[in-house]
Amino acid sequence: MNAQTEFDLIVIGGGSGGLAGAFRAAAHGARVALLEPAELGGTCVNVGCVPKKAMWLAADTAQRIALAAQLGFELESRPLDWREFIVHRQRYIAGIHASYRKRLDESGIVWMPCRGRLVDAHTVENSDGARLRGERILLATGGRPRRPPVPGAELGLVSDDFFQLCDPPARVALIGGGYIAVELGGVLQALGSQVELFVRGNRLLEGFDHELAADLLEDNRQHGLRAHFGHALAELQPAGAGKVVLVDAHGERSEPFDRVFFATGRVPSTASLGLENAGVALDERGFVQVDEWQDTNVANIHAVGDVTAGPALTPVAIAAARRLMDRLYGGKPDSRLEFRDIATVVFSHPPIGKVGMTEQEARARFGDAAVRVYRARFRPMLHALADSPQRSLFKLVCAGDEERVVGLHLLGEGADEILQGFAVAIRRGITRRDLEDTVAIHPTSAEEVVLMR
Ligand SMILES: Cc1cc2nc3c(=O)[nH]c(=O)nc-3n(C[C@H](O)[C@H](O)[C@H](O)COP(=O)(O)OP(=O)(O)OC[C@H]3O[C@@H](n4cnc5c(N)ncnc54)[C@H](O)[C@@H]3O)c2cc1C
Repeated sequence: MNAQTEFDLIVIGGGSGGLAGAFRAAAHGARVALLEPAELGGTCVNVGCVPKKAMWLAADTAQRIALAAQLGFELESRPLDWREFIVHRQRYIAGIHASYRKRLDESGIVWMPCRGRLVDAHTVENSDGARLRGERILLATGGRPRRPPVPGAELGLVSDDFFQLCDPPARVALIGGGYIAVELGGVLQALGSQVELFVRGNRLLEGFDHELAADLLEDNRQHGLRAHFGHALAELQPAGAGKVVLVDAHGERSEPFDRVFFATGRVPSTASLGLENAGVALDERGFVQVDEWQDTNVANIHAVGDVTAGPALTPVAIAAARRLMDRLYGGKPDSRLEFRDIATVVFSHPPIGKVGMTEQEARARFGDAAVRVYRARFRPMLHALADSPQRSLFKLVCAGDEERVVGLHLLGEGADEILQGFAVAIRRGITRRDLEDTVAIHPTSAEEVVLMR
């Protein structure tokens, strides 16, 4: 071993969590190696948040162009030129890659474009066969899309493939009712595809407020999206000319689709990581088991992000990694991420967001008598002007005599941007009285949060 192969910290995976951990550890003076065989930035930058939001912005623009036409703008209606848009999207992503490379250089992190595999609790072998020794190791290998084990599954695509599309498919089936199905379905529908969702359960976005999810579905239906609930997929079959049909458990066949996407969850990337060589424990679902300090059962091995069972969100992976490095190298022995009141947004059309408990969770926790729910259902001004049917629904969930705000749920234009500030307030333990005492900003959608009665 020598200075080139000995490190204070070896980070396996250069996505949201791995990069954040590497940068923070290096800023505290640690000597860091980072192993990432693919593009820097991981899922979020390459096949997740960033390209997804770019597509959402394109779809949102398309919907605004339609509204503009209703308002008297004389516009020539032409569909999006996907190829041109993708050039803009990928240029933006290339800028993020370049900025990561520059920051890695500047912070003295040794970046190896290789896979890593544990040989023992302190040794990582990279895919070139070189062995590195680390006092500590951070596992940040993220996850990948899961395909259900049905015959013909290879005929279906996954979210990674969505970002390879250069043209919009005419008819699309999405299997799943979670946020990836809703987001990709919304984008495709808004950009001109005919989209059908096939959902195993009986509602969209389990874990989000049920009323908001139902309103979102209704809105999407008005834009032409079709949804089938209680659907048990049994098989995919080729239907000629590259098309695919879905067969359900009763043998019922769907119409042929040009593309079928699975949005049926993600699995942690732990295969071939050599975890067994170091004795790192997994939980029953295959995630790397960590405690509230992001420590695994092996003293010097830590894990953050989607390879663990926490909320699969980029800011969660980043925050967990930074706090861990502050604790290990930054002289902050109590530093750790508290997994509560984490705001999250689904980039549907319109977006839906939540922070804190749903009404159902609050009732289960505090009892019906202690919970009060306030609602505002309204038409955002642009939609009212254009006489478009889109409605917003905001819900405030309060608990106890002092009506502490324990949950805020927003569906509607601007929900994605409005939620962040209220997330700060809710973490600080505000009551409904605090909202009532706050003077509104008029005319906005956001003012409805402080005006709910
Ligand atoms: C379609 C989609 C949309 C999303 N939208 C959002 C959103 O809007 N907002 C949000 O907050 N989150 C979103 N997410 C989730 C977010 O992308 C993830 O939570 C986040 O990327 C997790 O970061 P991570 O560092 O744990 O893993 P990743 O970002 O997945 O990075 C893991 C990295 O490890 C590398 N790796 C794997 N195995 C090895 C190995 N053996 N050796 C070396 N490297 C390895 C991989 O190549 C990868 O680059 C989305 C995800 C998807 C799929």
